[in-house]
Amino acid sequence: MKVVFSRCESYSDVKEALKEVVDRLGGIERFVRKGERVLVKPNLLSPHTPEHAVTTHPDFVRAVCELIEEAGGKVIIGDSPGMQGIGEELFERTGIKDLGYPCVLFDKERTILKNGWLLTSVLEKVDRIINLPKLKTHTLTTLTLGVKNLYGLIPGVTKKKLHTKYPDPFSFSHMLLELYFLVKPDLTLLDGIWGMEGNGPSAGNPVRPGIVAGSPSALALDVEVAKRTGAGGFPLKRIAERKKILPSYTVEGDFRFRLKLPGKRWYHLLPSWAGHILSRLYRVKPGVLPEKCTGCGICMRNCPAGAIEIKDTARINYSRCIGCMSCQELCPFRAIVPVYGLIRR
Ligand code: SF4
Ligand code: SF4
Repeated sequence: MKVVFSRCESYSDVKEALKEVVDRLGGIERFVRKGERVLVKPNLLSPHTPEHAVTTHPDFVRAVCELIEEAGGKVIIGDSPGMQGIGEELFERTGIKDLGYPCVLFDKERTILKNGWLLTSVLEKVDRIINLPKLKTHTLTTLTLGVKNLYGLIPGVTKKKLHTKYPDPFSFSHMLLELYFLVKPDLTLLDGIWGMEGNGPSAGNPVRPGIVAGSPSALALDVEVAKRTGAGGFPLKRIAERKKILPSYTVEGDFRFRLKLPGKRWYHLLPSWAGHILSRLYRVKPGVLPEKCTGCGICMRNCPAGAIEIKDTARINYSRCIGCMSCQELCPFRAIVPVYGLIRR
């Protein structure tokens, strides 16, 4: 097993960088055979245009789709965004529709039950999954990379319920790992040419790590990226190391880029079990910036705990809030910021 990094400073060079990564992993034919239907799963969190670095860049997606077609595969691009009620504008604004491949919004498809998980039925129609995460920070999980990107295979409202069930970074990351081992993508290719630091996954600042990375193991890729971006305490990495579920792998290519991580990641300094317990007590919570809030109600409609009401601007009922930070993730006006402190219940 390998994790491969290739430097790439511009999307105009992305095809060459991706080809180098895939060739070093054994060539695209190792992952796609002639006639196979391939689900390409970018990170399409919300209908942001590419320069915001919230979503996998369309040039990156195009280059992967071309490689799949060159191997004789048939491409289907699909995702379920973080917010409900989004339609075709998701593919339009992110630049994905212009690529000309079939695009499927999982929220409009049937769901299937697999080992207790409600997943998109598109999984029944494809032979392969190629996972295309974006390199970003995340206020709940520290980073969002290959494993977290699979959360989009769960359509709409079910994602909301899981946030309620797994409200802290460690239990949420445990859940993500279960999902990962259930769906196991064939190949993960990371768009780190432009990424996001600070209050990601949508309200942070775009940065240019200038990297394309790939691996058949999204988990190994995530762990290596965390080590190389200053996020050594990434909950997913700590759980994987503690449970000894990391595959053995080698690394090819060089990459270092220190990301500004969201908020106080103090529990990174603790043993994993202690971090898990204390992260339930001392947790990130959303704070509303009234001067930026337009009262649009997107946060209210997507809050899994029903903790938000709109009175001109968003008001948060902290006795109900579970700290999932979905509201911050989805606010289009950056009107919600993370605040760190003891949970008040
Ligand atoms: S906080 Fe953001 S999403 Fe919520 S109502 Fe205000 S502007 Fe809309
Ligand atoms: S208010 Fe925000 S952080 Fe709190 S439960 Fe609702 S969406 Fe999650």
